[in-house]
Amino acid sequence: MRIVLATHNAHKVAELRRILGPALDGLELVAYDGPEPIEDGDTFEANALIKARAASAHTGLPALADDSGICVDALGGAPGIHSARYAGTRNDGDNLELLLKNLVGVDDRGAQFACAAAFVVPAATGDAREFVELALWPGSVARARSGTEGFGYDPIFCPDGQSGTSADLSSDQKDALSHRAQAFAAIMPIVRAQLLGDS
Ligand code: IMP
Repeated sequence: MRIVLATHNAHKVAELRRILGPALDGLELVAYDGPEPIEDGDTFEANALIKARAASAHTGLPALADDSGICVDALGGAPGIHSARYAGTRNDGDNLELLLKNLVGVDDRGAQFACAAAFVVPAATGDAREFVELALWPGSVARARSGTEGFGYDPIFCPDGQSGTSADLSSDQKDALSHRAQAFAAIMPIVRAQLLGDS
């Protein structure tokens, strides 16, 4: 049974293959190389569903997708769903530097990573079946970057309960805690129940 993974982000594909591990037994995850839809939803859940629907419609396969970002309390939740394009360049380093700049002199450093995982099963007749799960990873924004692991805002995100940033965590440590791991841990039992009849 094949499922298409609706992301062009190589970091996320690698992270998800690791995270999903045994949850993929009996399922083959295939990369998506079709057109990217316009993500014009105003929530992580809406955008994850838009991506999963597009990949499912293009391939005819069940599709998994995620939408994620960092939400900063002192910025009213920004950059949020706009995290990937915060600086206007789609460059991780530019985004991270802009976030640090926008928090200069700000003492409230509270933030969270958010991830919505969506799953869409196409239907030959009638409506497609759609599912979405949201997970949050609470923490704060550091004043300077630290660590060399991960991607995106990892070098400036300090997860609650950790002494460093998420870029200081090994991939195994991040996978045990992250928003993405939690969202996919919630959606995978649904995927398996829908496609394989697991209970
Ligand atoms: P998406 O591909 O539209 O979901 O964009 C998510 C963006 O949020 C990424 O480009 C990163 O900038 C940021 N982001 C999401 N998850 C993480 C993470 O686990 N670590 C660091 N940055 C992340």
